[in-house]
Amino acid sequence: DVTQRKGLEFEDLYIKREILMGVFEAGFEKPSPIQEETIPVALTGRDILARAKNGTGKTAAFVIPALERVNPKSNKTQVLILVPTRELALQTSQVCKILGKHLGINVMVTTGGTTLKDDIIRLHDPVHILVGTPGRILDLAGKSVADFSECPIFIMDEADKLLSPEFTPIIEQLLAYFPADRQIMLFSATFPLVVKSFMDKHLKQPYEINLMDELTLRGITQYYAFVEEKQKVHCLNTLFSKLQINQSIIFCNSTNRVELLAKKITELGYSCFYSHARMAQASRNRVFHDFRNGVCRNLVCSDLLTRGIDIQAVNVVINFDFPKNAETYLHRIGRSGRFGHLGLAINLISWEDRFNLYRIEQELGTEIQPIPKEIDKKLY
Ligand code: ADP
Ligand code: MG
Repeated sequence: DVTQRKGLEFEDLYIKREILMGVFEAGFEKPSPIQEETIPVALTGRDILARAKNGTGKTAAFVIPALERVNPKSNKTQVLILVPTRELALQTSQVCKILGKHLGINVMVTTGGTTLKDDIIRLHDPVHILVGTPGRILDLAGKSVADFSECPIFIMDEADKLLSPEFTPIIEQLLAYFPADRQIMLFSATFPLVVKSFMDKHLKQPYEINLMDELTLRGITQYYAFVEEKQKVHCLNTLFSKLQINQSIIFCNSTNRVELLAKKITELGYSCFYSHARMAQASRNRVFHDFRNGVCRNLVCSDLLTRGIDIQAVNVVINFDFPKNAETYLHRIGRSGRFGHLGLAINLISWEDRFNLYRIEQELGTEIQPIPKEIDKKLY
């Protein structure tokens, strides 16, 4: 529960006045539990493995100590924040800029899908904090455009995703550009066993914080409805007419289905954006930016936006297609219920999904109820 705290104030955390100003201007009053636990340890330079629920403020838990340790007078890159997706990179760099507003430092975000040439020009100026996705960062390091030889801090958000087989070889190569005594901080809501071997190999007596003991999905009411594939759109239409949606994210399992569904929703007369990995980056950015600013009520997407995305206005998540595993489920529905807000997750379950539903319920130790005729508005 985000309200269960040790009782520390931001003023107790030994951070610069300039950062405190940024924090208060962002509207944060008191540190969340993961922030209370992490910030003091992170400031000592110790390696960290931190696990906490979605929406509990992990970003600031690593951004604040990173900002504190940056020397604005040095021209070196002193922090690398690695994240698995481009949208999350943008979002995270914005948090750095907001919280670090009064420090006079440079934050740069770089991801695939933009021109490398622009990055090279931008890196001529000092960049104190670099935020990006693995492929592009490795590219820049390999071309000696980004210099991590004196970079003391390496942060991975959604670390288990970054340490999945898809990315691990890149991470390993990237680490070689860092000094031996760098601090590594890993953050996520989920840490499957694959992460263990990376930890054993690269982390030095990491401080492990696990705030996941309590039920992960508090604040999010979860329902399912058995629906035939052919009836799914009809069912969605009914949901749209019945629910009081502030903003919703609707997940599909493939890019084709994302586009198809977005078209159907528009035909039904509801406003809707869509986003998936095969779209041009500029369009992805525009969609993400506009959705965040409330230009549109509904967003259909693939698992591209499953992790880390923080849009507080989202009160309903719909799994139009049910995810294949518990981890994806957890991250998807965690897009609502941010920082103590309530949220609703609705799963459309086809005949083939029924065992998966049961398995995921078991694995997460959570309860997904059949959808009632009327859903109490107080729940979301
Ligand atoms: P996580 O990464 O754990 O899923 P985020 O870092 O995205 O969570 O934060 C979730 C939301 O909580 C964000 O909108 C953020 O601005 C807000 N938040 C974070 N820390 C605080 C705080 N101490 N007080 C108030 N709001 C906070
Ligand atoms: Mg996060």
